[in-house]
Amino acid sequence: MIIVLEPDAGSAEVDRIVKTLEEEGVKVHYSKGVDKTVLGLIGDKQILSRLSVERFSGVEKVIHVSEPFKLASRSFHPEPSRVQVGNITIGGGEPVVIAGPCSVESRDQILETARAVKEAGAGLLRGGAFKPRSSPYSFQGLGEKGLKLLAEAREETGLPVVSEVMDPENLDMVAEYVDVLQLGARNMQNFHLLKKVGRTGKPVLLKRGLSATIEEWLMSAEYILNEGNPHVILCERGIRTFETYTRNTLDLSAVPVIQHLSHLPIMVDPSHGTGKWRYIAPMSRAALAAGADGLMVEVHPDPQAALSDGPQSLTVDNFRSMMGELSRPVARIHSGSGT
Ligand code: PEP
Ligand code: MN
Repeated sequence: MIIVLEPDAGSAEVDRIVKTLEEEGVKVHYSKGVDKTVLGLIGDKQILSRLSVERFSGVEKVIHVSEPFKLASRSFHPEPSRVQVGNITIGGGEPVVIAGPCSVESRDQILETARAVKEAGAGLLRGGAFKPRSSPYSFQGLGEKGLKLLAEAREETGLPVVSEVMDPENLDMVAEYVDVLQLGARNMQNFHLLKKVGRTGKPVLLKRGLSATIEEWLMSAEYILNEGNPHVILCERGIRTFETYTRNTLDLSAVPVIQHLSHLPIMVDPSHGTGKWRYIAPMSRAALAAGADGLMVEVHPDPQAALSDGPQSLTVDNFRSMMGELSRPVARIHSGSGT
């Protein structure tokens, strides 16, 4: 349930409403927007109807939320959320690019990539240290050594780092080194991990599950938000369909759908979305044209020698030229000037 406050409701009136509700065990989320101020209520339906909140002074109207997600919903929080990572802001403004290799493989590899992607305009560096691989015989990541190398790359370049946490057991370790915890597609519904990640209070990049509906994805975000961590960024990375030419089907319609349903920032990962480097630049342009808050792109100094996801990794040169292309037409599309 949502209470829309009257534009001239005073703070004493608002405090009284909040106090009455909290005394009844209702959780109240205050959100002040440009046009309206709302109180999002989470609590027992019977208590809420007994209180008949529409009669409180200062209340303009009461809206019943039919969606199962509340804290993630745009009706609870009408303004777009922004997630701050160092001096980078994700959401509601300039698109941000996260770039780097699928896996951290060596000091030379991660430092060379970090320098190159920074120079080309990336805002954050990615690199997996714990890798979810389909085969137990494939490279599983360097573990803590990989995290240390990422921290070294951040030290040198100033780029905040993003890395996946796969397992509640390693969460404290990963959280110690990274600026953004990535929750991978395969773990989108690992509710135990979601709750624990929520309790760290750190920014989280929550990837869409391989076969997850948008509602399931937002319910996973709800788990993190419900632990008191508002710093959630969603990342569309393609879903399983009957099409096999591309690795996944990049569901760009998720971008406007998420923006309609939720206030959370939404990024797009065209690397896992297509699985082929050739399609990364056009799908990156399309993602930004659709209104995405940013991109996550895999870049490797020598994709043919990559220990994971080589076929979908851009070379440093290709990344540089894609970034050059993106800044021009996208600025045009966003400004709507057509020049
Ligand atoms: C990755 O980012 O390298 C990764 C494994 O992504 P996803 O969880 O989307 O498959
Ligand atoms: Mn990958």
